Amino acid sequence: MDARQTRSLAVFWYWLRCFWTDPDATPELANYYRAQQIDSLSRQLPLASSATVLIVILCSIFAHGLINHNVLITWSLSLLIIAAGDVIAWYLFVKRKVKNTGSKGALFVLAVMLGAAALLYAQMTTLLLGVLDTQGKIILVAIIAAFITTGAWQFASLPAAALVWVLFLTLGVSVSIHITYDGEYLFISALLVIYWLYLSCVVMVTSKRFVSGLMAETAIEHQRQVVGLLLKDFEENASDWLWEIDHKGCLKHVSLRMQDVLGKPVQQLSGSHFLSLLTECTPAENNAELTELATNFQKNEPFTLDNIPIEINGNVKWWSLTAQPLISSNGDLSGWRGVSTDVTDALLRENEMMLLANIDSLTGLANRHLFSKTLHESFLDNTQLNNTDIVNKVTLITLDLDNFKIVNDTLGHLAGDELLKEMSNRFQEITPKDVLLSRLGGDEFAWLFKHALTPLQATQFGQKVHALLAEPWLHQEHAFDLGVSIGVANAPMDGSSPVSLQRASDMALYAAKASGKNKLCFYDPKLDEYAMLRLALLNDFRQSFANSDFVVLYQPQIRYSDNSLIGFEALVRWHHPERGVVSPADFIHLIEENGMIVQLGEWVLRQACRDAMSWPSPLQIAVNVSPVQIERANLLTTVLKSLNASGLPASRLELELTESSLMCDGDSTIALLNNLREQGVRIALDDFGTGYSSLSYLQRFPFDKLKVDRSFVMAASEHTQSINNVDAESILFAILQLANALNLQTTAEGVETIEVSSLLQSLGFTNAQGFFYGRPMTAEHAKDFINEWPDIQNKEN
Ligand code: C2E
Ligand code: CA
Ligand code: CA
Repeated sequence: MDARQTRSLAVFWYWLRCFWTDPDATPELANYYRAQQIDSLSRQLPLASSATVLIVILCSIFAHGLINHNVLITWSLSLLIIAAGDVIAWYLFVKRKVKNTGSKGALFVLAVMLGAAALLYAQMTTLLLGVLDTQGKIILVAIIAAFITTGAWQFASLPAAALVWVLFLTLGVSVSIHITYDGEYLFISALLVIYWLYLSCVVMVTSKRFVSGLMAETAIEHQRQVVGLLLKDFEENASDWLWEIDHKGCLKHVSLRMQDVLGKPVQQLSGSHFLSLLTECTPAENNAELTELATNFQKNEPFTLDNIPIEINGNVKWWSLTAQPLISSNGDLSGWRGVSTDVTDALLRENEMMLLANIDSLTGLANRHLFSKTLHESFLDNTQLNNTDIVNKVTLITLDLDNFKIVNDTLGHLAGDELLKEMSNRFQEITPKDVLLSRLGGDEFAWLFKHALTPLQATQFGQKVHALLAEPWLHQEHAFDLGVSIGVANAPMDGSSPVSLQRASDMALYAAKASGKNKLCFYDPKLDEYAMLRLALLNDFRQSFANSDFVVLYQPQIRYSDNSLIGFEALVRWHHPERGVVSPADFIHLIEENGMIVQLGEWVLRQACRDAMSWPSPLQIAVNVSPVQIERANLLTTVLKSLNASGLPASRLELELTESSLMCDGDSTIALLNNLREQGVRIALDDFGTGYSSLSYLQRFPFDKLKVDRSFVMAASEHTQSINNVDAESILFAILQLANALNLQTTAEGVETIEVSSLLQSLGFTNAQGFFYGRPMTAEHAKDFINEWPDIQNKEN
């Protein structure tokens, strides 16, 4: 046999085995199938043996005298022995006296027994056919045919036995017909072969069906075991639990897990009314969910209900419940089956996430996300009202802490955080209940009023905010005066969408900041123009700088003691090709934001030193220095280069710094100032009194001079009690005392009249500067001014 034939044979054998077993089954499973086949056949054996005994009795009576007596006895005894064997086999296998392991031996014995019985029946057929008349023969053959068919069908679960039965009997009948029949035997034989083949096929097909049934049963059993295991695992370990109630709503199936969750024994829970049980465990104020649950149970449709509050031993837990109605075969509701899950942790996590998403973690206020959401919602609410109602329905007040960046940079981020917390606590004190206070980020806060505020109300609210800041912020024994800038915008007047309203209030805030700190501004459409102007200026600046469209003007400074000219302050002007002269007040802060002040500052310094070189010594030049130059540029090198280039002695140069410069990085600024002073350059503190640094800064930083801001001087000139109800004069006096104590010179800015000049002189100021003495003038005019000033040459300052 070649390989191909062997392979074909193997395939055929595989196909054939499918009729009585699963060819792919494991040996254990094959044994199991065989055991089931043996079992099924053994169950037929009592019937078969009863039939055998009856046949033996009938044949003994009927054939008595017809056939040899000894043969009849032997035949009868043989069959009775087989019948007894059948009963024993039934007793052993069905009554489980031996373990039915599906052994091939047992199968063989059964096949042999049936084969033997078949042979004996065939023998009796031969004997009887020899003695019966034609009619008797026909009846006998018919009975035998029915007998073969019945056996084939009855023993089909064990195809080996059934096939032996069919084969031996058909063969036996064939032989006996051959011996006794004298007609056309070939035709009869052909019929018998067809009959045998047909019955064998029936046996195989029936056997196949039996095996298929076994396989399906095995698969189901396997699934059942897996499901059982899973369920067991689920009930023991999972956070969920199963329950089942009958049509009255009483619990049928109570798992151990459910017992644990409810804290009651299974016996107590079984049979109790599920809904009543839950009602007992529900906090009184949370009944809505249970009402919904009851409604759902009435609908006979599957449902899922989330977040049902259940109180067990004083702890409130949250359950989710999924239920499926059980419908009986006649279509009636027979109960409910479902799964419950404790979703408390998930719910807490979800709430936490919600908080994180909506609440600013530092201050506990609403964050930008919640603010935007609420703002959008309030606009949606408004659009649902009719047009007349939506006028001024929302007022947005935004706030920015003045100098927060400085606190952050000098005292560190922890101090910055502390300040923000302190501020938010103070702001909450004055926030009405229905108003959303949010921290939009950094030092920016916002109040969203869902009702209109009149300008007066908004102003009063702003005053309350400013009053909150009257109390200085204490940090490590130091008191810091704080200020806030506030912007107010109303919808839909100033902005008809959330975005435009926010933009409007930002613009108002920006305007408040620009108009000096600690101010409140309302949105004004003009602010848009200013914003556009600022943007345009910024765009033009670079080109103008390249075109040298800048000039430095000089404003004289005098000394009171001898009325002598001590020098000039350099003040830059921008000669804009289209706009004309632009004041530094309008563009310095713009170019500070983008850093271009560094180049301009350098240029002013060089120009001022060069111009001052043409003045008689010891006239000095005072140059303004921006905080950005201190922070970003190498100021010392720049100064030395300018002095070298012009040849101006360092002693004739004074730098004017504002208080915000001191806040950049305290220690390095002190080092820089000391270096400059060592070179002979003097340092003046400009605009004193407008910043928020504590007076202790005066001690830490090395200054030569204080320039008191002109707002104080002007207030003093008005003789009013305008600054925080404290007399301006007494403030000036206090500043002077402080300066004297620290051995600092003092310059009063903004002196416009002789009266003010006299007042300041009498108070004790060292120097003065202002329109009264001279407006900022070109370098040419400055020379004339010097020449015309009565006497300077012989006075040292
Ligand atoms: P500042 O340093 O306080 O300069 C004094 C300002 O007060 C000048 O305004 C001056 O024209 C004005 N002023 C002087 N006397 C009087 C007076 O009697 N009455 C009134 N009402 N005003 C008087 P200006 O030139 O517009 O400068 C504004 C600010 O721009 C300056 O304030 C200074 O901070 C800044 N600035 C000017 N030039 C430069 C510069 O070259 N570099 C830097 N970084 N800043 C500069
Ligand atoms: Ca100045
Ligand atoms: Ca000033």
